[in-house]
Order: sequence, then structure tokens, then C-alpha cells
Amino acid sequence: MEQVINVIGAGLAGCEAAWQIAKRGGYVRIYEMKPHKKTPAHHLDTFAELVCSNSLKSNQLENAAGLLKEELRRMGSLIMECADSNAVPAGGALAVDREDFSRCVTEKIKNHPNIEVIEQECSKIDDENITIIATGPLTSEALIAEIARITGDGFLSFFDAAAPIVKADSINMEKAFIASRYDRGEADYINCPMTKEEYAAFYEALINAEKAEVKDFEKHLVFEGCMPIEVMAERGPDTLRFGPLKPVGLTDPRTGKMPYAVVQLRRDNKEGTLYNMVGFQTRLKWGEQKRVFSMIPGLENAEFVRYGVMHRNTFINSPRLLLPSYRMKKRRNLFFAGQITGVEGYVESTASGLVAGINAFRLLKGMDEIYFPKSTALGALAHYISTSSVGTFQPMNINFGLIEDLKPTDSDGKPLKIKDKRLKNRMISERALRVIESMKDI
Ligand code: FAD
Repeated sequence: MEQVINVIGAGLAGCEAAWQIAKRGGYVRIYEMKPHKKTPAHHLDTFAELVCSNSLKSNQLENAAGLLKEELRRMGSLIMECADSNAVPAGGALAVDREDFSRCVTEKIKNHPNIEVIEQECSKIDDENITIIATGPLTSEALIAEIARITGDGFLSFFDAAAPIVKADSINMEKAFIASRYDRGEADYINCPMTKEEYAAFYEALINAEKAEVKDFEKHLVFEGCMPIEVMAERGPDTLRFGPLKPVGLTDPRTGKMPYAVVQLRRDNKEGTLYNMVGFQTRLKWGEQKRVFSMIPGLENAEFVRYGVMHRNTFINSPRLLLPSYRMKKRRNLFFAGQITGVEGYVESTASGLVAGINAFRLLKGMDEIYFPKSTALGALAHYISTSSVGTFQPMNINFGLIEDLKPTDSDGKPLKIKDKRLKNRMISERALRVIESMKDI
């Protein structure tokens, strides 16, 4: 009897992983607790349920989400096949009829001769078979205890309280300056100084901005030590100036004086291409974050690669635990895939399922692991989650800040700067797709 690979969770990542294994000739047993038991966000009885928006974001190659989808298509992704065949008109984005999409994935999984579906909640991981855990951000309690046991103390988070992250090259350094408070240590922070008037306008906009809806199952969450910035602001006009926006120990080199208030940004990845806004965890709606935070001097044209969120999200400390194949460093036959690894979003979850599935199959067959290169969106995402981030590990959407930069040169070999951002993104995408073309038969 051929050995079976277990996949736990028939969500976006689990279905993709199962498909990648089965289409290569491997046998899969996929466990799904629906329809007997559902998380507070799942309502359909079928697999790969889109729990909120029905959009899989941009389809354009100038957008990193568009590139990731195209890479998945070329790698023979089940989720992309069903999404494309159940698309509804959505301009440059890919949106789907959520029920038809979910039904399409379910039928393909259930009808595949190499896949056995077991409708049952899983609470234990066996040591014998190769297993992929893909139970998502709302993993059931019974399995959470098992994952905590396997990963070890302190390696599992239960909610995401993340501040927005911006691309470093979109910060206006004519206004912002690099320094550490009291000149301690390296000059690690980018500082956005505010005058009294700028602070007052920002404060008014912040306390009046629209907040995102809080789901019933998230109402009980407490955020000790990481209060939303807008909640802190409501305590009084000066609270932020004595908290995350305190200016003490910082001198604006342009005025030679201490600013009235300062927003600090801290490096978020080793390459220094991404910066997070210190203390800005928030529940404002995304459009409001863009509007209000762009009022901060230096961030007028900031490109937000991730907005701040505060919601329930179960995820492991992947940089400490996983390899770029999504396999556990310390436990050879255990993989994780989907949002539980710290990738964020439908397509990102699918992408990690694809990479984990391919690698689980290769492990079964005694073949070498495959790491997708950082010049591809699939590889950049896997690299982000499996490499120690500079600060606390936080989930991440795919964005061009993660993908290896282009290093174009002129005819004399001198570095060339491509000013047109869309053109540059397109060139990065074309380079990535050439790499994927060479890998699609693995
Ligand atoms: P899921 O798609 O959640 O799949 C996990 C599966 O595992 C589920 O079917 C679940 O029933 C099953 N399961 C759980 N525990 C067990 C167990 N012990 N045994 C067996 N089965 C189990 N991303 C976006 O891109 N756009 C959005 O609009 C969006 N909205 C979101 C809204 C909410 C409320 C949440 C929580 C997340 C949202 N996300 C969104 C983030 C993320 O993209 C989705 O959660 C995505 O579905 C994650 O894919 P996944 O495969 O990791 O998990």
C-alpha cells in the first residue's frame, strides 16, 4: 500500500496542497471538520470557502497579487483554475461567484481518485505519515492545543495586532529623517516630524476616522500593551505625544530643534525595503488608514504594502519554525500551509499550499526539497515567512517589497534607476514568470 500524505483542513491552502500531491501521483487523505463543525466565519458546507470578500485582488502584472496569481496558474493551481472559471466581472481584479467557486473546488477534490475526504475534526497529528496542517486563522481549539505542543511554548499567536507597513522608497526623505532616540545605537528609525498645526490636523482626522466592523467572535479579544492608536488618541489630544508620537530625544536636522510630535518607522525586513509604523496598530478601515496616515509629513505618497489590523488570527512563528518549503525545521514529516504560517490573504494561502504540497510529495518520493527563488512571488513569500524578520513576526500579503529587486545597468555597467514604477513592476513580473516557466514541470 502506497504511503498516504495527510492534509488537515480543506480550505484554500489545504485543497491546493492536496491537488498538487494527487496530480503528481501521490495519495492524499484530507480531513475537514465541515459540515459537522464550522468556525464562526465559515458558513458553506463546501471546501475552499471565501469567508469575507469575493475578490482575489488585482489580475494585473504590475501588481504583486496579480503576479502571484499568474505564477499559480502556470504551476497548475486548482484554486486558480476554479477561480478563473467562476469569475464575475470586476474590472482589473479577479472576483468570483463564491458558491460556484467553492463547489468547483469541492467537486474536483472529491472526484480525484487519489484523494480520500474525511469529514472529521482533527485533534492529533500522527508521527508516521507526512502531514500538512492547513487549518487556517480560525483553527479549532482541539487542534490548537496539539499545534502548541508541537511548536513549543510561545510560538503560536492568537491575534494579529499589526501596524501598517510602507515601502521604504515611497517615504519622502526630504521631510523625514533617520535617527535613533537620544542617538542610542544605530540610526535605526525613519522619523516623520510634525509641527503643532500638522499634529492638530492629524489628531482631528484620526479620532473622527471610520473604524472597521468588529466581528462578534473578536469582541472578547483584549489588546493589553497594544491598544489601537485611535483608541489611545480618544483619551486626550496629548496622549499620543506622550506615547508613540513622543518627540523627546529626537532633533530634526533641518530645524535643529525637537519637533512637536514624531511618528517613527522601524525597519521591517533585513533588506530595509519595508518599514512599519511604530505603535500604529489600528482598527481603522483601510481607506481611512491611507487617508489619515498620508497626512503625516513624509508619508504623503507612502505606498502601504499592508494596512494595520487587529483581529483573531492563529499563526505560528514561522521564521523560527519553518523552511522555505513550509516544512518544519525540527520535524521532518510535518508541513504547515495557509494563513496559519503567517501568509496573509486568499491567494497567499493558496500559494503556500502549492509549495507545501509539491514539497510534501517530493519528500515522500525521496527527492530534494524545492525552494522557489526570491525573484518569484512564490519564493519571496516563502522566504519572508521562513526568515527571521527584524521585529516581531507579523503576517504579510505579497508585495513587491518582498521580491528581489531588479538591478538594471546602463551600457557602461552603471546602475540605472527605473523611475516609472509600473514599468519596473512589470519588468519584475516578467522576470519572475520566466523563472516559473523553467520550474513548472517539477
Ligand atoms: P481556511 O480557508 O480558513 O481553511 C481552513 C479549513 O480548515 C477550514 O475549512 C476549517 O473548517 C478547517 N479546520 C479548522 N480546524 C480544523 C480541524 N481541527 N480539523 C479539520 N478541519 C479543520 N483574506 C483575503 O484575501 N480577503 C478577505 O476578504 C479576507 N477576509 C477574512 C475574514 C476573516 C473573518 C478571516 C478570519 C480571514 C480573512 N482573510 C481574508 C484571510 C485569509 O485569506 C482567509 O482566512 C483564508 O481563507 C485562509 O486560507 P487557509 O486555507 O489558510 O484557511
